[in-house]
Amino acid sequence: MSEFDVIVIGAGPAGSSAAIKLAQGGMNVLLVERGDPPGTKNVSGAVLWGDELSRVVPDWERSAPIERFVTRKEVAFLTERSKIAISYSSQDLMEKKSGKIIVRGKFDQWLARKAKDAGAMLVTGITVDKLVMDDGKVIGVMQDGDVVTSDAVIVAEGANPRVLINSGLRPKLSDHDVALGIKETIKLPENVINERFNVDSKGGYASEFVLGFLEDGLLSGGFLYTNKDTVSLGIVASLDRLRANGMTHSYDIMGKFEEHPFIKNLIKDGIPDEYAAHLVPEGGLASMPELYGNGYLVAGDAAMFTFSNGMVLQGINYAITSGLLAAETILENKTKINKETLSSYVTKLRNSYVLSDLYTFNGIQNVTWSDFTQKTMPKILDSVMMSMFDERGMPKKHLMQVLTAAVKSNGMRYTDLISSGYRMMRKM
Ligand SMILES: Cc1cc2nc3c(=O)[nH]c(=O)nc-3n(C[C@H](O)[C@H](O)[C@H](O)COP(=O)(O)OP(=O)(O)OC[C@H]3O[C@@H](n4cnc5c(N)ncnc54)[C@H](O)[C@@H]3O)c2cc1C
Repeated sequence: MSEFDVIVIGAGPAGSSAAIKLAQGGMNVLLVERGDPPGTKNVSGAVLWGDELSRVVPDWERSAPIERFVTRKEVAFLTERSKIAISYSSQDLMEKKSGKIIVRGKFDQWLARKAKDAGAMLVTGITVDKLVMDDGKVIGVMQDGDVVTSDAVIVAEGANPRVLINSGLRPKLSDHDVALGIKETIKLPENVINERFNVDSKGGYASEFVLGFLEDGLLSGGFLYTNKDTVSLGIVASLDRLRANGMTHSYDIMGKFEEHPFIKNLIKDGIPDEYAAHLVPEGGLASMPELYGNGYLVAGDAAMFTFSNGMVLQGINYAITSGLLAAETILENKTKINKETLSSYVTKLRNSYVLSDLYTFNGIQNVTWSDFTQKTMPKILDSVMMSMFDERGMPKKHLMQVLTAAVKSNGMRYTDLISSGYRMMRKM
């Protein structure tokens, strides 16, 4: 007889959500987290998009540590001296509470506490080394030679899936499977944030940036989110380009981002509070491990469930949903856990937006990490904007002529622009 019905590895959004559901379903659950307290090892922007929280903690508004709700969303291309942005502000965004800006240290602790309240046993400061197998079935986990047994294990260990790798359940990560996320938290008084970002104390600003202005062939995206009295500023950089360019360090890229004329003013007089780095899954379907096996399921980042098209970066919502679906699969099959019964997890994921988004946007990384998106397009847009807004008392040209001239001056043919633009739009 096993010591636990289920062991969940990792008290991030995926693991804690799974543990809550399992405990509510009457299961004897062990939630193991290497951070002490939960959240201390995690790095995220972070905006939690969508309504997942209602599914895991229906009365979340009473206690969830939400910093602000997104009321202004921007997407911007930064060139060295310019910013070309789409900006959207809406009272509807606020009313729908679509984007919840959170600080993961606080949020993860709160969610793990909810798992404990539901009846799960939470053990922190323990790093699981690998899964323990007997006759091809997972029967528990091992840490430092000690074995704890269970009927099923949910692997929710995040983007650096050492347990899966150590257990021979997925190959080592390549530079195409993940990107490097770097984040700095900067303290600013609440009233300064409200004025500077044109929000009230409940509302928040969230922006993603294409950072094509960075030199040395680097490809990266940036983000800036307003918390209550801090801002989160970060970069997600392509690992293979970063490695190919052995001269550039993460703090150099952050430094250049912070010095950009349109960022500099937003963080002026801010006091740096925290600096951290973390991997972000980027490989999509191609780097996904087996999602289930005899006695185990994989959820969240460990399953490579993230989405990024340059306009939003999402993973927390997929983590919560996949954690809940993993728990549901176990609850439905608790009397007979094996590879065959656990396969219904994939059906559930396919019927949800988790796997369907990954299929719909399969290959999106070829757009987000392309030289066209990162370098050529921002330059063309910059030329077009400058031609339209720089008045010199000369006869005006139609937009089409302006665009053609901009394309030509950036060394591109018009037909190439159309085909690249079309490919981009189809993937996004
Ligand atoms: C810089 C950055 C910005 C991001 N911004 C956003 C955003 O704005 N919105 C969004 O939706 N997503 C964002 N993401 C992605 C998001 O953070 C992840 O998709 C999400 O955290 C995945 O949740 P998870 O529970 O699967 O994994 P994690 O949150 O990584 O949690 C895994 C947990 O497992 C623990 N753990 C790992 N290994 C072990 C082990 N062996 N034993 C015990 N415990 C272990 C870890 O300490 C951690 O607590 C961002 C990511 C980064 C890096």
